[in-house]
Amino acid sequence: MKVVDELDLRGKRVFVRVDFNVPLEDDGRGGLRITDDARIRASLPTIRLAAERGAKVVVAAHLGRPKGKPDPKQSLAPTATRLAELLGRPVALAPDCVGPDAETAVARMSPGDVLLLENLRFHAEEEKNDPAFAESLARLADVWVNDAFGAAHRAHASTAGMAPLVAERASGLLMRDEVKHLGRLLAGADRPFVAILGGSKVSDKIGVVEQLLSRVDALLVGGAMAYTFLVAKGVAVGGSRVESDKVDLARETLAAARARGVRVLLPVDHVAARKPEAGSETRICGPGIEDGWLGVDIGPATREAYAKEIATARTVLWNGPMGIFEIPAFAEGTLSVARALAGAKQATTVVGGGDSVAAIGVAGVADRIGHVSTGGGASLEFLEGRTLPGIAALEG
Ligand code: ADP
Ligand code: MG
Repeated sequence: MKVVDELDLRGKRVFVRVDFNVPLEDDGRGGLRITDDARIRASLPTIRLAAERGAKVVVAAHLGRPKGKPDPKQSLAPTATRLAELLGRPVALAPDCVGPDAETAVARMSPGDVLLLENLRFHAEEEKNDPAFAESLARLADVWVNDAFGAAHRAHASTAGMAPLVAERASGLLMRDEVKHLGRLLAGADRPFVAILGGSKVSDKIGVVEQLLSRVDALLVGGAMAYTFLVAKGVAVGGSRVESDKVDLARETLAAARARGVRVLLPVDHVAARKPEAGSETRICGPGIEDGWLGVDIGPATREAYAKEIATARTVLWNGPMGIFEIPAFAEGTLSVARALAGAKQATTVVGGGDSVAAIGVAGVADRIGHVSTGGGASLEFLEGRTLPGIAALEG
């Protein structure tokens, strides 16, 4: 896999696919405001490098789910403005990502210019990976640079289809870092290697659990998925969220872990609530949960046990919150894991998953984590050991 900084980019049209799928909210004045620009910041090094090396930088991205036709509410106009502010140089927005408008805009560029193409998903052909659409995109490019790790698990026209149709291909700097840090977890991670998995569903994370069982020393489980594991061990969980059709799978996973000598830690106490709502009555209980209560966070003894494991690890992967952390009264378990990672100075720490990354932000420790992945679904699929189309397209 070539990296963008290995290529001679001078005067070339460098098409940079990025993941700028940022959250937007109404600004109260009829417009839209970006509430979190982390994804834009993450690709700045690649865009800046290409511009500084004299490329004509054609940036392409998708936003939201516009159903294959233009929708002003999902325009990249606010993104173009923010990108220009962050880069400290002008960024023009082409009114379309293909066709005469895009081609004219690209033809007018000078070396060092940055142009953002309008939302790729204004065309249904993007997600269908339509060959003619990929051809139209490729007409704008001498070099295809993929920096969109967050979209790398999708075989779309801009993330994979156009790759063989351009003269040169390279990964962006963000893509390189993601592959390096996440790849390290699948081969050559320093031991002890501790993985903390949580979040809402066993079914979302089981592929990662299976892949990690052959690599980790300990697996710490929290979040809703912990209750399915506790049921598999015969522990009462009251009204907690359980995937009844995954209890057998959880039991098999525990047996597989035992066979491999992997220690699996499950919550020994809980924050239980009457309802999964702010303001609900709560209590600390354990090891089980009585009827009439449901688990909404890991309890203090569990937090301490997990923090101890993290403190002695050399590699830590965290994916999935320990509770319903969106509600402050149920967030302490998740925040304590975030702080434990931040404090683990001897360890390589990696956080993946949209909600876990958000929790890192809430805890205010993002700058003390080794690698915060920008890919939610993509990082999970990568950690399952699957080949991601957007990465495979770089290797071809
Ligand atoms: P990530 O995005 O980090 O991969 P997930 O999407 O798998 O994480 O899970 C996050 C969601 O899991 C959050 O919305 C959180 O409220 C929910 N969750 C965590 N613990 C519980 C619980 N005990 N009961 C219900 N939902 C939970
Ligand atoms: Mg999520």
